[in-house]
Amino acid sequence: MDIYLDSNATTAVLPLAREAAMKTMQDAFGNPSSVHSAGLRARSVLDAARTSARRVLGMPTGRILFTSGATEGIQTAVLSCLNAWREKRDSGEALPGLLLYGATEHKAVPEALKHWNKVLCLGLNVQPIPVDRNGRHALEWLRHHAPQAAMVCTMAANNETGVVSDLDGIALAMNGSPALWLVDSVQALGKLDLRLAERRIDYAPFSGHKLYAPKGVGMLYVREGAPFTPLMAGGGQENAARSGTENMVGIAALGAVLKELERGRAFHPSSVLEAYRKQLVHALRTAFPDLVLNTPLAMALPTTVNFSVPGVTSRLLLEVFDAAGLRMSAGSACGSSRAQPSYVLEAMGLEAWRAASAVRLSFGAADTEDTIEEACRRIRQCGLALKASRLLPDVAAGTDAHSVVTRFAAEGECTYVVTDPGQRRCVVIDPRAEQVEPILQWMRCRGCSLVAVLNTAHDDGKQSGAASLKHAARALAQPAPTPCDPLGWPLAQDLIALGPWQLRRLQDGVLELWEHGALRYRFGADAAKAIDVDGDIVFDLPRHDPDARLAIVAGRSITEPSSEPLELSVSGLHTLLQQAPAIRLVDVRERVEQAVGALVPGDTRLRVDRAPMSEIINALPGWLGQTAEIPLVLVCRSGNRSAQAARALRGMGRQNTWSLAGGVALCGQDLFNTAMPEQETGIGRPCWT
Ligand code: PLP
Repeated sequence: MDIYLDSNATTAVLPLAREAAMKTMQDAFGNPSSVHSAGLRARSVLDAARTSARRVLGMPTGRILFTSGATEGIQTAVLSCLNAWREKRDSGEALPGLLLYGATEHKAVPEALKHWNKVLCLGLNVQPIPVDRNGRHALEWLRHHAPQAAMVCTMAANNETGVVSDLDGIALAMNGSPALWLVDSVQALGKLDLRLAERRIDYAPFSGHKLYAPKGVGMLYVREGAPFTPLMAGGGQENAARSGTENMVGIAALGAVLKELERGRAFHPSSVLEAYRKQLVHALRTAFPDLVLNTPLAMALPTTVNFSVPGVTSRLLLEVFDAAGLRMSAGSACGSSRAQPSYVLEAMGLEAWRAASAVRLSFGAADTEDTIEEACRRIRQCGLALKASRLLPDVAAGTDAHSVVTRFAAEGECTYVVTDPGQRRCVVIDPRAEQVEPILQWMRCRGCSLVAVLNTAHDDGKQSGAASLKHAARALAQPAPTPCDPLGWPLAQDLIALGPWQLRRLQDGVLELWEHGALRYRFGADAAKAIDVDGDIVFDLPRHDPDARLAIVAGRSITEPSSEPLELSVSGLHTLLQQAPAIRLVDVRERVEQAVGALVPGDTRLRVDRAPMSEIINALPGWLGQTAEIPLVLVCRSGNRSAQAARALRGMGRQNTWSLAGGVALCGQDLFNTAMPEQETGIGRPCWT
């Protein structure tokens, strides 16, 4: 069962909202502008929704217009305000020079300010209001700048952190300012009392899909007397404030949700939501004892927790949670497909590692106690799996046979860690500054000591993490490093032995990794250079890998991609299985993801091997050697990592490799029983055959 903990991104549609939408389509499908009975029935649905909205918002006066969502409400508010200032300017009045918005505002707000400022040729200065480490607006700064502001935009509660703004403090700081005030109230609806009537808020946009109504419907409140310019002109609907035939299905559903808010049955009061959050935070702290909260709970919505786990990137945590059927996100849904750290946490001045590791858990005001309890159980399970996979420190964890080369890659830059099979000693090659923390965590979790930190080339020192890695390792009471040359090679040593593996250095910084007298891998080498390897395949592991090749077969040119499609659907997989029964599925998700959601193929003919992306280098000799004839179908969570690895393998000449399109997320039910273990997970050894 999926547990959805991403309610600040969107919510499911409440059954009673669905019913209201269906009923409107069946019984009240008329046009609310028509004067016949069908139109009147639709009009009564529209009026009832607006009446509920007025009661929920406590606003008997002012406009409430239905929109397509908050982004439209924001545009309308900004256009209304700026157009009023433009008219004043045209009649000779001097304009205040600033348009202010909170630095952690949803992007819709600053982008709307910039857009309409440009379209209306106002030339005002669009400036962020700084926030403190808790994400609260700098009120002194605002007090100083508000007298020169034409508009001030501050959200009621932040979508990423849940931080609730001090609206009374903001109102006080704006005292005497000519600015109109927009309060983005999207995350507040149903969770906070906005006291719109008491506060002199001019515009407040809302969005239906953040509170159990469907996407594509929202509301804008406009204070009586506040300037208003319609965004859309046409048939004069909504008293000519927003033309276009109303989205009656969405409005009926939103109306049903608002009515339910009035009744107070489906949604829990704050005290219950706070108790749920306490339970979830307790489970998170049990799973991740070093966890850091990115905002004080007392200042946040009772349904949101934003946290970071030292040494664990948000990407990894989200993948583990997803494998356990827990849907969370790294920040705003709009930004989470991009790799950049959250601008919200950066604006709060949090350290880079916290921004890079941040996870947002947000549940809904209608979630049940059973859901919260099951979520807590799975969170604890994820903590155990991370410990068992040596991604969190755990005193109980012993050693197990492990891959020799581990690859840490980000944005096309690669760092390699070479370990002895007992995992107690390691050499780090070409560490990047941003990889230092994850590598240290990796070493800590394995009780692994650092033998050397090597660079394969000189660089300007800005991006290399060699110095900080050595420094941090020393702080961890690691043995003092031996004197070394500028690239980190220990002086007076010809080779570094790691069990049966040996690292050797060539003149130009190139490193070779040998196993029992056979050359296996080279680091920092020119891949195009042919080498004499007596029939063995040697892999060049690149330092820069922008095209995600993973490795290049030394002395061999890159194979042209075949015309055979790279991605297989489930039915394509079954067809392939008819032709080649010996086919292997390879789970390239990280060990911890595999631990919380093992792939158990429904089809018993399928065998699953494990080759996590970070360790996949170790499987290459087998896949291009003894088992080269066996077709491989790589699988991951969404199909992205598996496609990348399959493409790389084809580039190495292994054409009989595919990726399962859509991964476990889309094919799960058709192909796998993804099992969620009850007990601490023992992770099997990868099958490199
Ligand atoms: N404002 C905030 C605080 C939000 O969280 C969102 C949605 O993520 C929006 C505005 C945009 O809302 P909509 O999707 O309804 O346009």
